[in-house]
Amino acid sequence: MTGPAHRAEIVVDLAAVRHNVRILKDLVSVDGPVQLMVVVKADGYGHGMVEVAAAARDAGADWLGVATLDEALALRAAGDHGPLLCWLTATGDDYAAGVAAGVELTAYSVAELEEIAAVGGARVQLKVDTGLSRGGAARDDWPAFFAAAAALEDAGRITVTGLWSHFVASDEPAHPANDAQEAAFREALALAEEAGLEPEVTHLANSAATLLRPSSHFDLVRCGIATYGLDPAPGTSPRIGLRPAMTVRARLVMSKAIAAGEGVSYGHTWYAGEDTTVGLVPVGYGEGVPRAAGNTASVWVEDSLRPIRGRVCMDQLVVDLHGELPRPGTEVVLFGPGDLGEPTAQDWAEAVDTISYEIVTRIGGRLVRRHV
Ligand code: PLP
Repeated sequence: MTGPAHRAEIVVDLAAVRHNVRILKDLVSVDGPVQLMVVVKADGYGHGMVEVAAAARDAGADWLGVATLDEALALRAAGDHGPLLCWLTATGDDYAAGVAAGVELTAYSVAELEEIAAVGGARVQLKVDTGLSRGGAARDDWPAFFAAAAALEDAGRITVTGLWSHFVASDEPAHPANDAQEAAFREALALAEEAGLEPEVTHLANSAATLLRPSSHFDLVRCGIATYGLDPAPGTSPRIGLRPAMTVRARLVMSKAIAAGEGVSYGHTWYAGEDTTVGLVPVGYGEGVPRAAGNTASVWVEDSLRPIRGRVCMDQLVVDLHGELPRPGTEVVLFGPGDLGEPTAQDWAEAVDTISYEIVTRIGGRLVRRHV
């Protein structure tokens, strides 16, 4: 592999993942035993699902969480045998394969409960919608949902192991939905108890709630972004010592001088205001670099921030080297932990008006990913 794209790589620091898992475990264990689920869906938020899962288990993660059954089965095929929940199944999914693999399934409705029960032997968690208006049983349906779950459990056709919900805006502590959702969740727990259900785990908190809202920890917290060392809410992860795990780097293909007035990249959306030098970096939107990073984000070359000039192309982008002419092969850091002054995924997210989740999850394409 010798092409320019292969000189660009994603380096994932698994020691940072293990460190973050330990910090999160300690954080939630302060007031009593709370279990930690590490969320590794979407290929571990772009960090490598299997590798992150192993590192997380190694550091004490009690559970892993994924969206799809395929992700859960891929973890089992890779040798993971611990508690594992998936939450985005649908009619037609191979529930039997999930049950045989010891994957806990999530049900949103009576119809889904019955479909899962038909397999026999499933361990099922019930998801209730407390305000997100996404997946989960709607409030009006809770009594019937819980009654059906209890009846199926009494008949020995399923075991109800959990009851859970998901926050709307836990990254905004003052958002009124937070209190309302927590109150609604407690109401769901009471109704489930009335129906005779005794789930082993109840859970509501994602990373932001784990860091900002201890009252929402219940038996277990589900942490995704914090595991990867990124901020679930502004400024929160450095405060507890979390370390970003992902660095994306490439090597300059060339550098050259351009004169004042010359335009750069497709459409000439940027013109040099003075004589300068530019460098060619062999990554583009084909690697998941947001096209919106053109004229907004910066990279790190030789101890300095270098702004991206003009449009990001499919395979390459151009940076302003401010008169310097580094040799081809010089390292370029797109983003990393920020220790040296390089941009972070959060900086990139702000530059292109998105969230760090999207930056790290989409980066990939032809990049080689390496775990260290
Ligand atoms: N729980 C569920 C159901 C999710 O879908 C996600 C991810 O979006 C998480 C937990 C983890 O969220 P975060 O990455 O904000 O911790």
